[in-house]
Amino acid sequence: MIYLDHAATTPLAPEVLAAMEPYLREQFGNASALYSLGRKSRLAVENARELAAAFFGCQPQEILFTSGGSESDNLALRGVMAACRERGDHLITTLIEHHAVLHTAQALERQGYRVTYLRPDRQGRVDVEQVRGAITERTVLISVMHANNEIGTVQPVEAIGRLARERGILFHTDAVQAVGQLPTRVREMPCDLLSMSAHKIYGPKGVGLLYARTGVRLVPHITGGDQEYNRRAGTENVAGIVGLGAALELAFAVLQSDELARQQALRDRLIADVRERLPDAELTGHPALRLPNHASFRFPHIEGEPLLLNLDMQGICASSGSACAAGTIEPSHVLLAIGYTLSEAHGALRLTLGRENTEAEVDRVIEVLPPLVESLRKLRVPPGDAECGARRAPRIAE
Ligand SMILES: *Cc1c(COP(=O)(O)O)cnc(C)c1O
Repeated sequence: MIYLDHAATTPLAPEVLAAMEPYLREQFGNASALYSLGRKSRLAVENARELAAAFFGCQPQEILFTSGGSESDNLALRGVMAACRERGDHLITTLIEHHAVLHTAQALERQGYRVTYLRPDRQGRVDVEQVRGAITERTVLISVMHANNEIGTVQPVEAIGRLARERGILFHTDAVQAVGQLPTRVREMPCDLLSMSAHKIYGPKGVGLLYARTGVRLVPHITGGDQEYNRRAGTENVAGIVGLGAALELAFAVLQSDELARQQALRDRLIADVRERLPDAELTGHPALRLPNHASFRFPHIEGEPLLLNLDMQGICASSGSACAAGTIEPSHVLLAIGYTLSEAHGALRLTLGRENTEAEVDRVIEVLPPLVESLRKLRVPPGDAECGARRAPRIAE
């Protein structure tokens, strides 16, 4: 199997599993308990918090453990908007955010908040002047993702962060894709809130964190016990938190090594070879300002789903921007937002590399993908038939 979907999730690193194991076995104590079994869990949680603080360049008490990226995004948006209600009710975000931000912003609108959704350019970049132009007297929060999961484009978070600070507005960034691939020191960015998720950096699923700068008020969205400084109730996921800490330690080592340059070189070859063999293949997202492991394409006149199924039969795990939900093929909201038409948005393919991928695996993809795209094109039904939502049995190429 060739796994090229690291933007969706990553395998658990063996070192991370080893760090977690005692806390799934004999070290099962509740971190709030007073006996030594519990105190050991508390120490493990606080050790992970210190690792996270060192990674992001902040204080340990600014790290809140959550159940993952989606919860961190929810806590940032809902928590800040509720806490700042008397100061203002306006949120600025973008049309290409992950659904964890986008659907939360829409839910806030239904509660009476006002939201401005910025439209990035065709390469997926938001301009800091667009953000400036959207600011009103009532703006309390700007939420712009650090790097996009579907097209890999990196946003000018530094400039946006500085603008927000100048204007006394809080800045949140969803850095789930950026952590471990780009510098994410929160003071340097600068940001007031940052979301990340363990399973995107070779850690376990179901755990993440929100960095919230000291002084940022948050109304908790999960109430109960006084865990996580009274900002997020619930018995700590000790093994998960330990895994998150171990994954961040590994990510730190990777950032210091030449591993990301290796992935970027593989990615560049993948992109160059695909475009050479399929001249009408289009790289989506920004050609340079993109995640080092991220290649995303659009192939005219084919659909993503049969392409993925055929790649799967060749042992290649990849993804398109489309998610299959309730019997319809939803085109990528990201591609639609940056100006692709419905039918253009259907032929998307995302290949995201990781630590375990090799040269030989990239060779194999370059061998398999172009003939597959060409054979699917020949099988293509005439336009009109290929409408969004009209789900048919996927066509399998020979
Ligand atoms: C995966 C992802 C999330 C959601 O994180 P989970 O831990 O899976 O809830 C949020 N934002 C971005 C950009 C992501 O890629």
